[in-house]
Amino acid sequence: MRIAFIGLGNMGGPMAGNLVKAGHEVAGVDPNESSHAAARELGIDVVDSAAEAVRGAQVVFTMLPSGKVVTAVVDSILDACDSDAVIVDSSTIDVESARALHERIAASGRRFLDAPVSGGIGGAAAGTLTFMVGGDEQTVADVREVIEAMAGKIFHVGGPGAGQSAKACNNLMLAINTAGLCEAATLADRLGLDPQVMYELAQVSSGDSWALRTWYPVPGVVDSAGVNRDFDGGFSVDLFAKDLGLALDAGASTNTPLEYVQRVRDQFLALSEAGYGNKDCSILVRLIDGTITTD
Ligand code: NAD
Repeated sequence: MRIAFIGLGNMGGPMAGNLVKAGHEVAGVDPNESSHAAARELGIDVVDSAAEAVRGAQVVFTMLPSGKVVTAVVDSILDACDSDAVIVDSSTIDVESARALHERIAASGRRFLDAPVSGGIGGAAAGTLTFMVGGDEQTVADVREVIEAMAGKIFHVGGPGAGQSAKACNNLMLAINTAGLCEAATLADRLGLDPQVMYELAQVSSGDSWALRTWYPVPGVVDSAGVNRDFDGGFSVDLFAKDLGLALDAGASTNTPLEYVQRVRDQFLALSEAGYGNKDCSILVRLIDGTITTD
């Protein structure tokens, strides 16, 4: 199949690479030239404009920073897209923008899915992302096989905007689990508990969570934790703060009080302002243990 991929960053590059591996012809575009060499190495045909990328493509993926950028890009390519093309946005954006994109694209006679992902850069490279898809059932069926090249699991959650709605709820849970983990690990240390024992027992007790298993914030306990690499790489404070902003927007538009996640987001924003925005989000543990301050 001929596929266009718009946005070849940390996530989009390796995702597009997995489409090439599955045998598709992929034309990619990204204004940031530093992404081009890696994309070419993955077999992506890097072209100069989004309009050129989408010409003749049956499926068009976008993997971009925000709802504003996705909307602008879609506006700029819609006329150049084939009339039977399916546009799939896998960026994490606000529910309102996703719903508006469904309307706009449907009005042009084309089809759209909001299909954000979970699994991070590792999942993008390994082709094991979880896709949360909103849109029409037949459209999902038509592109399922294409998405499978990048996915571990695909959930068709519901109609327009349902994918972004699920993503917001998932990240809200992750945020609160992460904050709880950072508080508990600090408390366990001060109560004299062995972190390895705490980590193992919580995994088979009611304190279990993905954050616990992946990010226990004491060096040497779990390889994947940011604490083992000075919180470099991983899921950044800034990206998490952005995602939680989307959850809070959804809360405001549905009159849902989200006090706990508001508190966690405030702490991420404070960390960002203090210069830790690019660090892994589990650096929150250093705010809790007092090693760093944001005053
Ligand atoms: P990134 O900044 O590495 O990549 C975004 C890319 O979009 C950049 O290379 C940028 O140059 C490009 N871009 C910007 N404007 C463009 C335009 N007009 N046309 C074409 N390309 C354009 O970010 P990322 O980590 O790849 O994340 C992309 C999306 O995926 C975001 O919405 C993010 O929230 C979401 N996401 C990220 C992760 C993660 O762990 N990094 C996990 C899940 C979801």
